[in-house]
Amino acid sequence: MTSLQDCRALDAQDPLRELRELFTLPEGVIYLDGNSLGVMPRSAPERVARAVNQEWGQGLIRSWNDAGWFTLPQRLGDKIGALIGARPGETIATDSTSINLYKVLSAALHIAAREHPERKVVVSERDNFPTDLYIAQSLCKERGYTLELVDEGRMEDALGPQVAVLMLTHVNYRTGAMHDMAALTAAAHRNGALAVWDLAHSAGAVPVDLNAADADFAIGCGYKYLNGGPGAPAFVWVHPRHADRFEQPLSGWWGHAAPFEFTPHYRPAQGISRYLCGTQPILSMVALECGLDTVSAAQPLGGIAALRRKSLALTDLFIDLVEERCAGHGLGLATPREHGRRGSQVCLTRAEGAYAIVQALIARGVVGDFRAGDGAVDGAQPDILRFGFTPLYIGFEDTWHAVEHLRHVLEDAEWQRPEFMRKHAVT
Ligand SMILES: *Cc1c(COP(=O)(O)O)cnc(C)c1O
Repeated sequence: MTSLQDCRALDAQDPLRELRELFTLPEGVIYLDGNSLGVMPRSAPERVARAVNQEWGQGLIRSWNDAGWFTLPQRLGDKIGALIGARPGETIATDSTSINLYKVLSAALHIAAREHPERKVVVSERDNFPTDLYIAQSLCKERGYTLELVDEGRMEDALGPQVAVLMLTHVNYRTGAMHDMAALTAAAHRNGALAVWDLAHSAGAVPVDLNAADADFAIGCGYKYLNGGPGAPAFVWVHPRHADRFEQPLSGWWGHAAPFEFTPHYRPAQGISRYLCGTQPILSMVALECGLDTVSAAQPLGGIAALRRKSLALTDLFIDLVEERCAGHGLGLATPREHGRRGSQVCLTRAEGAYAIVQALIARGVVGDFRAGDGAVDGAQPDILRFGFTPLYIGFEDTWHAVEHLRHVLEDAEWQRPEFMRKHAVT
């Protein structure tokens, strides 16, 4: 049995412990939702204020050059690239995850249409994040493709001579289950399909090596484990074998080879810069850089490998403590126990009251979130209590206290209080 003293000892030995000082964590909050919106970096308010007061207020239009605004997408792209196995120049920070998926899936379908015009199917996972499925649905409709949704674990079986693109999210947002990117990409390629990966729950959280996996396209999110702030710019990575060969559909002037020549015809920039569309949100970009720098700060302490070790230790501890201390309260585990298949979150299931339990925990300062299931009594998708573990700022003692709060909420039936039943717009 692990005790509170054991957890304190683990914190004391934790080589990443000092990184917590890079964040502003509200008093009395144990924040287990960094997989949805990362904590604010301590440097962000001052950096954004400088961008507003000096760069915008004083520098005005000169700041596009003088403050380096114009090249932020490339510069930040390279910082992200270092976390996902990309070489410099392969990644760009821009737009939102949804918009970037539209660009890369569209590019992938263009390649497929030229090289394998007979292939008319895009395969994805039924339990993928809905925006990914919505974007794929509209693109498939527009281009005459069929979107085939497959259950987890059946991906390889679904690959066949009709499949043009395999489009997956690396770590599942509902369950925290992680796919084997290298194996599935290889299977896609063996079957003549391209592989598009969404790294929304991976970048900054788990080791990713896009080049080693030989992936074709990837996108991901800036405001989750990268701590870039609400609505932070997302990113795009394209394998160099595709980057110069294809145009993406949102051919705005920022992706032009020479935007300031103002010529009437589109000529794409070389490489990843063609995945830009229009003018970028600079204030959000500078906040994103603060977030990226918190992840880069782990580099001298072991980088992503060290973050991963701690993340697995935290999620192991959370699972063990829930099973020891909250036994008999009907909680199930939706997240794989196997390290190789687990992202950086733990999802619990409960037949009844999952939403109210999460609300009761939030009232106690333990911030996780709720994801609705399919509503069926014994459906394939139960309601989920979701807890994200960002090892940059979450410790072992936090994990202990989070489970103690959960135990109280369940033992004292605190969750049954009427105020915890009210639904909010954002869960
Ligand atoms: C969070 C997330 C998104 C978010 O997309 P936005 O365009 O930023 O709203 C998309 N896909 C996945 C898999 C996500 O987890």
